[in-house]
Amino acid sequence: MKLKRPIYMDYAAATPMDPAVADAMQPYFSETFYNPSAVYMAGTAVRKDMEKARAAVARWFGSRPSEIIFTAGATEANNLAIHGIMQQFPEANLVVSSVEHDSVLAAAVNYSCKTIPVDTEGIVALAELDKLIDEHTVLICVQYANNEVGTIQPLKEVAELVKTVRAQRAKSGNSLPLYLHSDAAQAAGYLDLHATRLGADFISINGGKIYGPKQSGTLYIRAGLQIVPLIYGGGQERGLRSGTENVAACIGLAKALDLAQTMRHAEVKRLQSLQHQFIDSLQQKVPATIVNGSRKHRLPNNVHITIPGQDNERLLFALDEASVMAAAGSACSASDDTPSHVLKAMGLTDQEARASLRFSFGRQTTNEDIAAAVDTLIKLLA
Ligand code: PLP
Repeated sequence: MKLKRPIYMDYAAATPMDPAVADAMQPYFSETFYNPSAVYMAGTAVRKDMEKARAAVARWFGSRPSEIIFTAGATEANNLAIHGIMQQFPEANLVVSSVEHDSVLAAAVNYSCKTIPVDTEGIVALAELDKLIDEHTVLICVQYANNEVGTIQPLKEVAELVKTVRAQRAKSGNSLPLYLHSDAAQAAGYLDLHATRLGADFISINGGKIYGPKQSGTLYIRAGLQIVPLIYGGGQERGLRSGTENVAACIGLAKALDLAQTMRHAEVKRLQSLQHQFIDSLQQKVPATIVNGSRKHRLPNNVHITIPGQDNERLLFALDEASVMAAAGSACSASDDTPSHVLKAMGLTDQEARASLRFSFGRQTTNEDIAAAVDTLIKLLA
């Protein structure tokens, strides 16, 4: 059993670069290759283009350009936020959600760290978070949307809680700041990124998930907040990320974000309809299928399911043989055999986690693709 053409359903892991992004990047590889720090006019012209790209990114965060730091992806942006804050406060602790991406969790465990439990849909327990914040807490990390199950977190409510704690600290004379960081890598194509509306102090995004270049990203840092760098050297990116800038990647990221945010409302609608088509048609034929994550607060391009009694590795292999590319969960931990920490945090057993699959859709996904992928899956299950 093999489909006529391959069907890609792993957009949460990687997206194909938009041709308009590739076009925007192209000149900076050869024609205008100049170092943006050079003093001659060709160099300063490249610097201007980079700053235009920064301003374009800032627009979507509702921020000033100076609040945007270009990074090589979301892993770096997350690490910069966490180490950049925590290294300044060695006695302090941080509180992170239990469903964060590994790039947050693995950075956080270097410090005194507490984890926020989630409910069965993967939503952070706000009452628990309230209890976990103590007088030594300086940073809270709650992702915008989950990369495995697509659950969208109540960020604004988390930000309200942060505000309340800040007010209490001001009253009690505790001068320790409290910051909110959000990893928006999976959300940037579908949700509002306006930093003030969200109430976040740090927001990470990357280009590789929004039809831009891999190893491109930004960290939004609210004006006035001090963080220490991860990389020292020539002082680029306000001293927070030294090294000659990857100009093409910055230009590409800005273009990709512009395109993604401009089309996001229409794309969300279209993808939600594909999502319903996938879930409804699969559950009709395989009623035992369980949809993981929130049905209401969910990324439009994510379907994460458990098919009781199945083995996801075997199914993924068979799907691949049949030309359907899907995933078990996070691409970053795909190589290790431990059950997903996200699913475990949501209360799934090891066995249920190992019977779970993620299908994620994108700009090129059509109704026909959904029908063919579901049909293939049903045949494999039979
Ligand atoms: N955060 C989330 C939620 C992600 O989905 C990913 C990518 O899988 C990352 C961070 C890491 O991003 P990057 O590969 O750009 O470092």
